[in-house]
Amino acid sequence: MTEAPLVRSVLPRLAARIEAGLTAQGEERLAEQVDDLRITAVCPCEHAYCGSFHTASRPMKRWFMRGRQVSLGDDEPGEIAIDVVRGEIAYVEVLYLEEVRETLARLQVR
Ligand SMILES: [Zn+2]
Repeated sequence: MTEAPLVRSVLPRLAARIEAGLTAQGEERLAEQVDDLRITAVCPCEHAYCGSFHTASRPMKRWFMRGRQVSLGDDEPGEIAIDVVRGEIAYVEVLYLEEVRETLARLQVR
């Protein structure tokens, strides 16, 4: 069994952007997690503009609490929002970033 790929290995530019954006928005505790974030599943939806992925280390079904969402407010292209459950980054919503979509398509983590 191979380990889920690190976000900063397969999508270094995205990881750096998320880390910088979170830090700029005062979310240092989330920014600290970016380095260790792994892509545990790619969003299964069929939307052509979606490049979202799960990063939760634990199975989603264990969660019954609603998380909060932090949208990155930088001026870069695309839309990025981070779903946080119990203080942990559980899901990264990435929309309208073709580069990310293409990379995820090659990963085949489902
Ligand atoms: Zn999706």
